[in-house]
Amino acid sequence: MSCVFCKIVARELSASFIYEDRELVVFKDLNPVRKTHLLIIPKVHRVDCSDYDLVADADFFQAYFSVVKYLASRLSGKRAFNLQSNNGAEAGQTVFHQHTHFLSDEMFIA
Ligand code: 5GP
Ligand code: ZN
Repeated sequence: MSCVFCKIVARELSASFIYEDRELVVFKDLNPVRKTHLLIIPKVHRVDCSDYDLVADADFFQAYFSVVKYLASRLSGKRAFNLQSNNGAEAGQTVFHQHTHFLSDEMFIA
């Protein structure tokens, strides 16, 4: 298993974890580009957004939007944030285990 995010899920690599449930984990990005920069990733390896099955991964989608709401609720100030998922090397994807960048200029209160 050479996927760096699978290794983080398996705790073979350390990360600053924020949240975990049956479907996904959230941890801090190693090289933050905003005041808050978290990564939301599925526990099961999916290469990019095209790699999901709408039926088989339905529980993940529910967990995903649920955690987005939770993360937003932990932001200070106006609770404004951006979600970004790069799909494909040409779009800037460098880690080929699907992830969403949760970005904000507000502080995240763990
Ligand atoms: P991408 O460019 O694929 O959309 O984003 C990959 C992100 O993963 C980058 O923002 C990069 O900083 C982050 N990243 C890469 N390797 C690691 C790691 O080992 N640990 C953590 N916490 N983040 C990582
Ligand atoms: Zn993986």
